[in-house]
Amino acid sequence: MTAHAKLGASGSATWMNCPASIRICEDLPEDESPFAAEGTEAHDIAEKCLKTGENAPDTHPELQMYLDYVRETTGALQVEVQVAYDEWVPEGFGTVDALIIHEGKAHVTDLKWGKGVQVSADNNTQLMLYALGALQKYQFEYEIDELVLTIIQPRLDHISEWTISTEELLKWADEVVLPAALATEDPAAAVVPTPKGCRWCKARAICRERVRQLLALPDQPVDRLTRQEVADLLPVAEAAKVWASELQAYALKTVEQGETLPSYKLVAGKANRKFKADAEETLREAGLDDDVIYRKSFNTLGAIEKALGGKKKAKSVMDEVTIKPAGKPALVKLDDPRPELNAATIDDFPTGE
Ligand code: SF4
Repeated sequence: MTAHAKLGASGSATWMNCPASIRICEDLPEDESPFAAEGTEAHDIAEKCLKTGENAPDTHPELQMYLDYVRETTGALQVEVQVAYDEWVPEGFGTVDALIIHEGKAHVTDLKWGKGVQVSADNNTQLMLYALGALQKYQFEYEIDELVLTIIQPRLDHISEWTISTEELLKWADEVVLPAALATEDPAAAVVPTPKGCRWCKARAICRERVRQLLALPDQPVDRLTRQEVADLLPVAEAAKVWASELQAYALKTVEQGETLPSYKLVAGKANRKFKADAEETLREAGLDDDVIYRKSFNTLGAIEKALGGKKKAKSVMDEVTIKPAGKPALVKLDDPRPELNAATIDDFPTGE
């Protein structure tokens, strides 16, 4: 079982942004998701491969990207290294997936198995705390001038690298980490909702201040929302959508664990019929041909590319057999890198109806 530090590196976006989160989350159970179990399995496989020199197994081919990256970094490799950063954070510790210290550089590499959100290494507090731990552990053994922090998300084909000097990292530790850790010990610590901080907070479904701020709408002497208000409310609507599903999941779990919720009860959800394992044989005996029992459909693009010898080799064939239709118009923030559409040509785009 994995031990969790109270002020852990993986939860740092929460406690560093919201010092009250430690108080509010006390006694709340750890989030258990099937994704976490999948992540642990992928980490175990990657660790074994790095230790034995094996390549990624067929069950997890995406891991090869992580293995190749780590193997291409020069220096002696340490895998799954426990590091403590308790010079700044009481009982603070974490695990570095891959650590290589070579010629003044410490390479701190983190494997992320998730594919929901692309994570950047740039100013990433989780990796910065791991780096701090590596520094605390090895600063007297090796000369370390800078730290290269890398996040690899093989299932998103994403690698993010960011470098920070030892001097800057230690300055951040003294000026940001230490006061943030101390602030969590204040019984009257402020509750500070932020998208980053609340995202993985255990209290996110039931945190009063988060909901209060989310639902607050200023009084205005007009019946309709102004365009400015619509623009202002779009990110609120996004956050409210996420919170609504978190609240529903929390309520379901609460009742499943034997608690009661006023006006609600637990029932069996709707389920669809599905074929039994031996259905094929029985259907054949009943006189059906394969083309009635089965429906032909294309395999995934990725699987076909792989069968053609990889993305590069498959390119000319894939260019011939695929088209990429124009995407439906989508509203995004101005800093999105995609070029802006001309509203006058909008009829040329599919509406999805
Ligand atoms: S949900 Fe957000 S505001 Fe509430 S305790 Fe957690 S981090 Fe703080």
